[in-house]
Amino acid sequence: MITTQQAMVSVAHSVRLQVRDIAGDVLHRFGLTRPARSARGRLTIVALHRVLPNYLRAEYPLPGLVVSPDELDFITGVMAQHYTLDTLAAVAGRLRAGEVPDKPLAAITFDDGQRDNLEYAAPVLRAHGVRGTFFAVSDATEHNTPLWHDRLGFALAHLPGGLRQLDIVALGLPADTDRTVQGIVEATKLLRPSERDALIARVVELSGGAHRPNWDGIMSWQDLKQLQSDGHEIGSHTRSHPILPLATDGELIDELAGSREALEQKLGTPILSFCYPNGDHDARVMAAVERAGYRFATTTQPGLNARHAAPLQLRRFDMQGRFARRGNGRLAAQALHLRLSNALRGT
Ligand SMILES: [Zn+2]
Repeated sequence: MITTQQAMVSVAHSVRLQVRDIAGDVLHRFGLTRPARSARGRLTIVALHRVLPNYLRAEYPLPGLVVSPDELDFITGVMAQHYTLDTLAAVAGRLRAGEVPDKPLAAITFDDGQRDNLEYAAPVLRAHGVRGTFFAVSDATEHNTPLWHDRLGFALAHLPGGLRQLDIVALGLPADTDRTVQGIVEATKLLRPSERDALIARVVELSGGAHRPNWDGIMSWQDLKQLQSDGHEIGSHTRSHPILPLATDGELIDELAGSREALEQKLGTPILSFCYPNGDHDARVMAAVERAGYRFATTTQPGLNARHAAPLQLRRFDMQGRFARRGNGRLAAQALHLRLSNALRGT
């Protein structure tokens, strides 16, 4: 049964979508969200994670991290039409050199090095003749280990009693933690790595052992080389995907310089770009990124990058399929342009 409160939330949501659609149409008609105008002289970076067809997306516990191949095809097609797309290192270098092409500079980036990127994203990029940047987690690449948020997510999705039965406080999380997979993963991000690993081990145990669907995997060194041979850039996303401001100085060196060395040694090319896990960084982390030799680093702060934007604090637009759709569910360029123009924050 739908409660009054749920009905009001649903009405508010649909009104918000309609307002977004109207704003997207009007701003587009007056040219305000057209990239040639809204992003002129600036760099637009899009952040994606997994690319999974809908039947696999339904099995994945963190749907906010997924776009479908069709959605990626639409996003890439619209962007290829309106932007000068290339690898992050290439376009960030051109931005700093002061280039202002008629079609503004942009990059499509993929975090985490999931194998679905090779299987489902690479063919889409190839079809559009677009080069992208893939951020790999070097220890995960070496051992094909799932990232911690996936280990936790898969285990939470398999708890015999469901999430309601979970004793959140006994796990070391605040009592008011949102009891969804996403909510528990978000709360776990605030724990020190040792506390986090203990929590995950406990949830895995409660769920009856590690769960990993057979379609899941991390790209191997060979897979990354194949992406490189297609012209794509490989960047670093640390060794183990920790929340960096929580790491000690020694751990920072290990995660930043260590992953760069491993990637350069295995791939035989300089690694120029870095991506902060979860976007989390501070002055100490940035100094360590610079010392490790990276030239560019990306955050999860939305927005466009001006020529003199700090190269180790590049802004990116998190991209999900719903941001490229109208309220009625149809993929629409106006919706995507609105998202990438940053005209309506938080929509
Ligand atoms: Zn990540």
